[in-house]
Amino acid sequence: MRIGVGYDVHRLTAGRPLLIGGVSVPFSKGLEGHSDADVLLHAVCDALLGAAGEGDIGIHFPDTDPRYKNENSMRLLAATVRIIRAKGLRIANLDATVFAEAPKLHPYRKEMQRNIARIIGVEPACINVKATTTEGLGHIGKGEGIAAMCVVLLTADTSA
Ligand SMILES: [Zn+2]
Repeated sequence: MRIGVGYDVHRLTAGRPLLIGGVSVPFSKGLEGHSDADVLLHAVCDALLGAAGEGDIGIHFPDTDPRYKNENSMRLLAATVRIIRAKGLRIANLDATVFAEAPKLHPYRKEMQRNIARIIGVEPACINVKATTTEGLGHIGKGEGIAAMCVVLLTADTSA
């Protein structure tokens, strides 16, 4: 078994859609970034790549590469899963937390879990997404950005 951790943060800015876990969340601001800036999916990708000993998202999908401009992060996750599978690994379970002062993300958790489960190809019960605030503390608490953290466990794929 192999364990991996991923962390990501993006700045909130006006005039961008807010995409978290592949869900379009209604809000006055969105996350800034080269891709669609889906902070949760980026943390998931980094956890998966870390667990597989494959570096990080910046190595595989550099933000200097025009191919990834406004890229749908669901596609980055799908590409990451192909890297994991090619190494004979499968995802046992995944747990993630999104840190946001606003908007309230609780109503979207299940949809985020379903999105991630579908792309990864596991039962939704293997995926857990949580959301929390930072009690008004720090940059996240002041609403300047949103962060996400993810832990994933990989096992050898015996079905292959
Ligand atoms: Zn990111």
